[in-house]
Amino acid sequence: MRLFTTIAGLHCYLERQRIGKDVGLVPTMGALHHGHLSLIDRARRENDLVVVSIFVNPLQFGPTEDFQHYPRQLEQDRQLCEQKGVDVIFAPTPAELYGHHLSTSSVEADVTQVVAPTTMTGVLCGRSRQGHFQGVATVVTKLLNLVEPQRAYFGQKDAQQLAIIRRLVTDLNLPVTIVGCPIVREESGLAMSSRNQYLTPEQKAHAPVLYRALQQAQTVFHGGTRDRESLLEAVKSELSSTSNVQVEYVDLVDPTTLQPLEQVDCSGLLAIAARLGSTRLIDNVILQHRRPIVAIDGPAGVGKSTVTRLVAQALGLMHLDTGAMYRAVTWRVLKAKTDIQDEPAIAELVSQSQISLATDEQRGTGVRVWIDGEEVTKAIRSSDVTANVSAIAAQAAVRRELVKQQQRWGCKGGIVAEGRDIGTYVFPDAELKIFLTASVQERARRRQQDLKNQELPSVSLEQLEQDIQQRDFLDSTRALAPLRKAADAIEIQTDNLSIAEVTERIIRLYQQRLSQGIANDRRSGSG
Ligand code: AMP
Repeated sequence: MRLFTTIAGLHCYLERQRIGKDVGLVPTMGALHHGHLSLIDRARRENDLVVVSIFVNPLQFGPTEDFQHYPRQLEQDRQLCEQKGVDVIFAPTPAELYGHHLSTSSVEADVTQVVAPTTMTGVLCGRSRQGHFQGVATVVTKLLNLVEPQRAYFGQKDAQQLAIIRRLVTDLNLPVTIVGCPIVREESGLAMSSRNQYLTPEQKAHAPVLYRALQQAQTVFHGGTRDRESLLEAVKSELSSTSNVQVEYVDLVDPTTLQPLEQVDCSGLLAIAARLGSTRLIDNVILQHRRPIVAIDGPAGVGKSTVTRLVAQALGLMHLDTGAMYRAVTWRVLKAKTDIQDEPAIAELVSQSQISLATDEQRGTGVRVWIDGEEVTKAIRSSDVTANVSAIAAQAAVRRELVKQQQRWGCKGGIVAEGRDIGTYVFPDAELKIFLTASVQERARRRQQDLKNQELPSVSLEQLEQDIQQRDFLDSTRALAPLRKAADAIEIQTDNLSIAEVTERIIRLYQQRLSQGIANDRRSGSG
């Protein structure tokens, strides 16, 4: 592991080491705890090179805040990063990052700053922390520009910060994916924070009331209460049980725009800030009102599409047929007579296209598909589309656009989706994640049977096995949407199971999950 305190060192290192690699950035202020480490773990899983920045940013502290006293423990942080397999720590001084315009004791800065919308910075913590989010937006923009990561990791713990950074990246068209990570808590429920070090043992015993209060609202929410008044009241009544907690605010806002919500239609951010003595703590949960999502991933030829269709049918959920979406785009490209090699032209076309899907109520099988208002359910099965769909689905811009459209479906839930990275990337918060596997021999055998059923020329088992092995290798090593099993996916080995048995097993798992209420608990825990 390398530690750099200068921009020159960091640049020189990255220039040499990053070629052909994905870089993940985890910005922190140090005093690392398990919350930070969960971000680092995720970055380690998803990138070739992991950079952790450790910088107590003077620009985001108010004149009466704890900049001078904020815990600094670089040596301990260095050891933790080393243990976690971090490649680089970037720990500059304020003078290195801002030049000498900025004296470390003052937020008055003679530097260019990034101003996020005041509708987002003036609410919640922004009311009492003037200039804080401008300081955050500025330092994050600088770090993103310095490291140029493919992905940057932020905790849901600082939900307002996360929403503002997502917005900033969209508004400034920064080429990075922002990854939000669940809140990590102490056993008591207290959200981990570097500032918890300030708490006396007595305060620490009282602090879990914040999360208890949020959970109280969550229980009420899951009981069907959706309105602001009642949800805030549930939080406040629990908070009032502890006298030494001074509440700064309790609010219910839209998690993306941070605007106050009168009721939760799709999802709401319920957030608290409170003081215990002079220590200011924040916490939040996401209240989400959507039907469940089932993600089914696995290698080629394992029987995902049939199983997904049957599971959707049996559970009365919508089959989000991602394959049909790629086919619809291919149909659109062919119709426009766009050269399929012309990726920029295809990117332009796809970004302006709208796909709709609907379950075919009459036949009860498959889905009906429209693109830009035109029904293409049959047309997308033509041999022309079949011949070109792989080439088009392999294009990054096509995939980006379709994932965006798929995630829009995810907002309402009630879907079963199949693919290679549905559970890890498209719907990381799916209630049930299944990873189907089968041996290469079994998949070759199934493929041979398929060919026979379709009266297509037969291919030897050896050849089919070789093809499948090659395909597995490509699928799991490809840069775009590699095949990955989510850490919380349930693996089903299907060698000795019929399609009906696999379907049956998934349906049972789904019913167990929902009846145990794991889905709800997990959602609230990750708030
Ligand atoms: P900080 O060092 O406080 O600036 O935090 C650095 C990053 O770690 C931010 O993205 C935080 O949201 C995230 N983080 C801090 N505490 C937690 C926690 N308990 N769980 C998850 N993420 C956290």
